[in-house]
Amino acid sequence: MKVIMTVAALVSQAVLATVVWAQIDNAEDRFVESNLNSVFYHELGHAVIDLMQLPIFGQEEDAADVLSVLMIHELFEKDAAQIVAYDAAFGFQAEAEASDGTYFWDVHGPDEQRYYNLVCLFYGGSVDTREELADELDLPEERKDSCEDEFQLASDSWGPVLEDMSKLKGRLQFKSKEKNSVSEMIAREVEFLNKTYGFPQDIEVNVEACGEANAFYDLNLQSITICSEFESHLRAQFSKL
Ligand SMILES: [Zn+2]
Repeated sequence: MKVIMTVAALVSQAVLATVVWAQIDNAEDRFVESNLNSVFYHELGHAVIDLMQLPIFGQEEDAADVLSVLMIHELFEKDAAQIVAYDAAFGFQAEAEASDGTYFWDVHGPDEQRYYNLVCLFYGGSVDTREELADELDLPEERKDSCEDEFQLASDSWGPVLEDMSKLKGRLQFKSKEKNSVSEMIAREVEFLNKTYGFPQDIEVNVEACGEANAFYDLNLQSITICSEFESHLRAQFSKL
Protein backbone atom coordinates (compact mmCIF):
# COMPACT_ATOMS: atom_id res chain seq x y z
CA MET A 1 0.00 0.00 0.00
CA LYS A 2 1.51 3.26 -1.13
CA VAL A 3 0.81 6.70 0.23
CA ILE A 4 1.47 10.10 -1.29
CA MET A 5 4.94 10.48 0.13
CA THR A 6 5.84 13.83 -1.38
CA VAL A 7 3.24 15.71 0.52
CA ALA A 8 3.81 13.92 3.78
CA ALA A 9 7.40 15.11 3.57
CA LEU A 10 6.27 18.69 3.16
CA VAL A 11 4.02 19.03 6.15
CA SER A 12 5.52 22.32 7.30
CA GLN A 13 4.65 24.01 4.02
CA ALA A 14 1.13 22.60 4.11
CA VAL A 15 0.70 24.02 7.59
CA LEU A 16 1.85 27.43 6.33
CA ALA A 17 -0.74 27.38 3.56
CA THR A 18 -3.38 26.35 6.04
CA VAL A 19 -2.48 29.25 8.30
CA VAL A 20 -3.09 31.71 5.45
CA TRP A 21 -6.29 29.96 4.53
CA ALA A 22 -7.53 29.74 8.13
CA GLN A 23 -7.44 33.53 8.43
CA ILE A 24 -10.57 33.64 6.27
CA ASP A 25 -13.30 33.60 8.87
CA ASN A 26 -16.14 34.64 6.59
CA ALA A 27 -18.09 31.59 5.37
CA GLU A 28 -18.78 33.10 1.95
CA ASP A 29 -15.13 34.03 1.36
CA ARG A 30 -14.12 30.54 2.42
CA PHE A 31 -16.65 29.01 0.03
CA VAL A 32 -15.17 31.08 -2.80
CA GLU A 33 -11.59 30.18 -1.92
CA SER A 34 -12.34 26.48 -1.35
CA ASN A 35 -14.04 26.16 -4.71
CA LEU A 36 -11.34 28.12 -6.53
CA ASN A 37 -8.77 25.78 -4.99
CA SER A 38 -10.77 22.73 -6.02
CA VAL A 39 -11.14 24.03 -9.59
CA PHE A 40 -7.48 25.03 -9.83
CA TYR A 41 -6.35 21.57 -8.65
CA HIS A 42 -8.67 20.00 -11.24
CA GLU A 43 -7.10 22.07 -14.05
CA LEU A 44 -3.68 21.18 -12.72
CA GLY A 45 -4.75 17.55 -13.13
CA HIS A 46 -5.34 18.14 -16.85
CA ALA A 47 -1.93 19.80 -17.14
CA VAL A 48 -0.14 16.94 -15.37
CA ILE A 49 -1.99 14.29 -17.42
CA ASP A 50 -0.96 16.07 -20.63
CA LEU A 51 2.63 17.01 -19.80
CA MET A 52 3.54 13.74 -18.10
CA GLN A 53 1.66 11.75 -20.75
CA LEU A 54 -0.15 9.76 -18.10
CA PRO A 55 -2.29 6.84 -19.24
CA ILE A 56 -5.91 7.45 -18.20
CA PHE A 57 -8.24 4.46 -18.38
CA GLY A 58 -11.53 6.30 -18.17
CA GLN A 59 -12.76 9.86 -18.43
CA GLU A 60 -10.00 12.41 -18.02
CA GLU A 61 -12.46 14.73 -16.27
CA ASP A 62 -12.98 12.10 -13.56
CA ALA A 63 -9.22 11.63 -13.17
CA ALA A 64 -8.77 15.40 -12.75
CA ASP A 65 -11.53 15.44 -10.10
CA VAL A 66 -9.79 12.60 -8.26
CA LEU A 67 -6.49 14.49 -8.16
CA SER A 68 -8.28 17.57 -6.86
CA VAL A 69 -9.74 15.62 -3.91
CA LEU A 70 -6.39 13.96 -3.15
CA MET A 71 -4.71 17.37 -3.06
CA ILE A 72 -7.36 18.74 -0.68
CA HIS A 73 -6.83 15.68 1.53
CA GLU A 74 -3.05 16.02 1.54
CA LEU A 75 -2.30 19.74 1.37
CA PHE A 76 -4.61 21.00 4.11
CA GLU A 77 -4.49 20.39 7.81
CA LYS A 78 -7.24 17.95 8.89
CA ASP A 79 -9.97 20.39 9.99
CA ALA A 80 -9.31 22.80 7.14
CA ALA A 81 -9.42 19.94 4.62
CA GLN A 82 -12.89 19.01 5.88
CA ILE A 83 -14.15 22.57 5.40
CA VAL A 84 -12.73 22.71 1.86
CA ALA A 85 -14.34 19.35 1.08
CA TYR A 86 -17.73 20.53 2.42
CA ASP A 87 -17.48 23.74 0.38
CA ALA A 88 -16.42 21.96 -2.80
CA ALA A 89 -19.30 19.48 -2.38
CA PHE A 90 -21.72 22.37 -1.85
CA GLY A 91 -20.25 23.92 -5.01
CA PHE A 92 -21.29 20.86 -7.04
CA GLN A 93 -24.66 20.83 -5.28
CA ALA A 94 -25.25 24.48 -6.22
CA GLU A 95 -24.27 23.77 -9.83
CA ALA A 96 -26.69 20.85 -9.93
CA GLU A 97 -29.52 22.94 -8.50
CA ALA A 98 -28.86 25.81 -10.93
CA SER A 99 -28.63 23.51 -13.95
CA ASP A 100 -31.48 23.45 -16.46
CA GLY A 101 -30.95 19.76 -17.09
CA THR A 102 -28.56 16.83 -16.86
CA TYR A 103 -26.32 16.55 -19.89
CA PHE A 104 -25.35 12.91 -20.07
CA TRP A 105 -23.33 13.54 -23.26
CA ASP A 106 -21.01 15.97 -21.49
CA VAL A 107 -17.35 15.05 -20.90
CA HIS A 108 -17.91 15.91 -17.23
CA GLY A 109 -20.09 13.59 -15.20
CA PRO A 110 -23.35 15.13 -13.93
CA ASP A 111 -22.78 17.51 -11.00
CA GLU A 112 -24.68 15.20 -8.64
CA GLN A 113 -22.28 12.38 -9.55
CA ARG A 114 -19.24 14.62 -9.09
CA TYR A 115 -20.68 15.59 -5.69
CA TYR A 116 -20.95 11.98 -4.50
CA ASN A 117 -17.57 11.02 -6.00
CA LEU A 118 -15.94 13.86 -4.09
CA VAL A 119 -17.69 13.06 -0.81
CA CYS A 120 -16.92 9.33 -1.11
CA LEU A 121 -13.25 9.78 -2.00
CA PHE A 122 -12.67 12.35 0.74
CA TYR A 123 -14.49 10.19 3.29
CA GLY A 124 -12.44 7.19 2.11
CA GLY A 125 -9.24 9.09 2.96
CA SER A 126 -10.05 8.82 6.68
CA VAL A 127 -13.20 6.83 7.41
CA ASP A 128 -12.62 6.99 11.17
CA THR A 129 -12.65 10.79 11.34
CA ARG A 130 -14.98 11.69 8.46
CA GLU A 131 -18.06 9.62 9.28
CA GLU A 132 -20.00 12.72 10.32
CA LEU A 133 -19.11 14.49 7.07
CA ALA A 134 -20.26 11.50 5.01
CA ASP A 135 -23.56 11.36 6.91
CA GLU A 136 -24.19 15.10 6.81
CA LEU A 137 -23.57 15.10 3.07
CA ASP A 138 -25.97 12.16 2.63
CA LEU A 139 -23.53 9.58 1.31
CA PRO A 140 -25.60 6.39 1.21
CA GLU A 141 -24.41 3.23 3.01
CA GLU A 142 -24.26 1.38 -0.32
CA ARG A 143 -21.56 3.76 -1.56
CA LYS A 144 -19.82 4.23 1.79
CA ASP A 145 -18.76 0.58 1.76
CA SER A 146 -16.37 1.08 -1.15
CA CYS A 147 -14.96 4.53 -0.36
CA GLU A 148 -11.87 3.41 1.54
CA ASP A 149 -10.90 1.10 -1.35
CA GLU A 150 -11.65 3.87 -3.85
CA PHE A 151 -9.37 6.23 -1.96
CA GLN A 152 -6.62 3.60 -1.80
CA LEU A 153 -6.81 3.01 -5.55
CA ALA A 154 -6.68 6.77 -6.19
CA SER A 155 -3.72 7.13 -3.84
CA ASP A 156 -1.90 4.18 -5.43
CA SER A 157 -2.53 5.68 -8.90
CA TRP A 158 -1.58 9.30 -8.26
CA GLY A 159 0.93 8.77 -5.43
CA PRO A 160 3.89 7.73 -7.62
CA VAL A 161 3.09 10.58 -10.04
CA LEU A 162 3.14 13.16 -7.26
CA GLU A 163 6.34 11.65 -5.95
CA ASP A 164 7.96 12.02 -9.40
CA MET A 165 6.68 15.60 -9.59
CA SER A 166 8.58 16.57 -6.47
CA LYS A 167 11.82 16.05 -8.44
CA LEU A 168 10.89 18.01 -11.59
CA LYS A 169 12.26 21.48 -12.35
CA GLY A 170 9.39 23.14 -14.24
CA ARG A 171 7.33 25.64 -12.25
CA LEU A 172 3.92 27.31 -12.44
CA GLN A 173 4.36 30.82 -13.84
CA PHE A 174 1.68 33.15 -12.58
CA LYS A 175 0.43 35.77 -15.08
CA SER A 176 -2.44 38.13 -14.57
CA LYS A 177 -3.34 41.43 -16.17
CA GLU A 178 -5.93 41.97 -13.47
CA LYS A 179 -5.60 42.59 -9.78
CA ASN A 180 -8.56 41.15 -7.92
CA SER A 181 -9.25 38.61 -5.21
CA VAL A 182 -9.15 35.69 -7.67
CA SER A 183 -5.72 36.68 -8.99
CA GLU A 184 -4.43 37.27 -5.46
CA MET A 185 -5.65 33.88 -4.31
CA ILE A 186 -4.31 32.00 -7.33
CA ALA A 187 -0.96 33.82 -7.02
CA ARG A 188 -0.69 32.63 -3.40
CA GLU A 189 -1.60 29.10 -4.40
CA VAL A 190 0.95 29.08 -7.24
CA GLU A 191 3.66 30.19 -4.82
CA PHE A 192 2.72 27.42 -2.41
CA LEU A 193 2.40 24.68 -5.04
CA ASN A 194 5.78 25.62 -6.52
CA LYS A 195 7.37 24.73 -3.19
CA THR A 196 5.65 21.36 -3.21
CA TYR A 197 5.60 20.13 -6.81
CA GLY A 198 7.54 20.46 -10.03
CA PHE A 199 6.44 19.88 -13.61
CA PRO A 200 8.13 18.65 -16.81
CA GLN A 201 8.15 22.27 -18.03
CA ASP A 202 6.99 25.71 -16.86
CA ILE A 203 3.20 26.10 -16.98
CA GLU A 204 1.62 29.54 -17.36
CA VAL A 205 -1.28 30.21 -15.01
CA ASN A 206 -3.51 33.08 -16.15
CA VAL A 207 -6.30 34.82 -14.30
CA GLU A 208 -8.39 36.88 -16.69
CA ALA A 209 -11.91 37.83 -17.68
CA CYS A 210 -13.23 35.25 -20.16
CA GLY A 211 -16.91 36.19 -20.38
CA GLU A 212 -17.96 33.18 -18.29
CA ALA A 213 -17.28 31.56 -14.93
CA ASN A 214 -14.98 28.79 -16.06
CA ALA A 215 -11.44 27.44 -16.02
CA PHE A 216 -9.40 25.76 -18.74
CA TYR A 217 -6.24 23.92 -19.52
CA ASP A 218 -5.11 24.78 -23.04
CA LEU A 219 -3.54 21.75 -24.76
CA ASN A 220 -1.80 23.88 -27.40
CA LEU A 221 -0.41 26.62 -25.17
CA GLN A 222 -0.04 24.25 -22.23
CA SER A 223 -1.37 26.91 -19.90
CA ILE A 224 -4.09 27.12 -17.27
CA THR A 225 -6.66 29.91 -17.27
CA ILE A 226 -8.91 30.70 -14.33
CA CYS A 227 -11.66 33.14 -15.26
CA SER A 228 -12.09 36.06 -12.87
CA GLU A 229 -15.88 35.79 -13.33
CA PHE A 230 -15.68 32.78 -11.03
CA GLU A 231 -15.76 34.96 -7.93
CA SER A 232 -19.14 36.63 -8.55
CA HIS A 233 -20.51 33.29 -9.76
CA LEU A 234 -19.45 31.54 -6.55
CA ARG A 235 -20.82 34.35 -4.39
CA ALA A 236 -24.16 34.06 -6.17
CA GLN A 237 -24.09 30.28 -5.64
CA PHE A 238 -23.34 30.72 -1.96
CA SER A 239 -26.29 33.07 -1.49
CA LYS A 240 -28.62 30.34 -2.79
CA LEU A 241 -27.31 27.54 -0.58
ZN1 LIG B 1 -11.75 19.47 -16.61
